[in-house]
Amino acid sequence: DEQWRIDKWLAAAGIGSRKDVKKLLRKKEIQVNGTTVTDASVKINAHKDTVTINGEEIDYDPGPVYLMMNKRKGRVSATTDDRHRTVLNDIDQKDKKIELFPVGRLDKDTTGLLFLTTDGGWAHRLTTPRLGIEKEYEVLLDEEPSSEELQSLREGIQLKDGTETKPAKVSEGAQEKIGFRLLITVTEGKYHQVKRMFGAIGREVKTLKRVRVSNVHLDERLDAGEYRPLTADELEVIA
Ligand code: URA
Repeated sequence: DEQWRIDKWLAAAGIGSRKDVKKLLRKKEIQVNGTTVTDASVKINAHKDTVTINGEEIDYDPGPVYLMMNKRKGRVSATTDDRHRTVLNDIDQKDKKIELFPVGRLDKDTTGLLFLTTDGGWAHRLTTPRLGIEKEYEVLLDEEPSSEELQSLREGIQLKDGTETKPAKVSEGAQEKIGFRLLITVTEGKYHQVKRMFGAIGREVKTLKRVRVSNVHLDERLDAGEYRPLTADELEVIA
């Protein structure tokens, strides 16, 4: 179920800015289930908890939010990071009122399709390896792999640390001036998986872009760092 920081939830409910809400908290004017709270980071569940301001109940159900982003290079897939900007730095102020988080991880230098949501259950279903949801990546390699090497990726390969990958779909690919470009589809989400798979055949991934998750394709109209809500059709295929 959806957990919200109380300051974000009350701001989204239209009580005022998060600053305004923090003032109310400091003045001990906000109660959760009858108990006064003063900490803005207290988590509430809009379906289960009763929030009152000086005894007056606030009734607000934001509903879940589902976004697709074209992640830009240099952003970390996290909600906070000590050293780097996160994908949330590309979210508009108005959408920041809600408790969004990225679904799964793309490396800092990886671009492309990333979902953001407030719905923990949905995020979990998309990322659990058990369901084997397909993730397709466009890869630029330093050099063309041999057909035997590509075949070994298709059958499943042993990474340098000994872990075995499941079979992957790998396209023919094409030589370009700047390297060899191909598509790979994996059903797992191991750490640095695609880079390590190509590393296992001695190739270097120069750029990596996720173009599809399940049946949802990256909307090519989204520039780097842009996002939009998922459509009803898109949500249905990965419900
Ligand atoms: N595989 C990787 O190596 N990196 C990503 O960001 C995604 C898949």
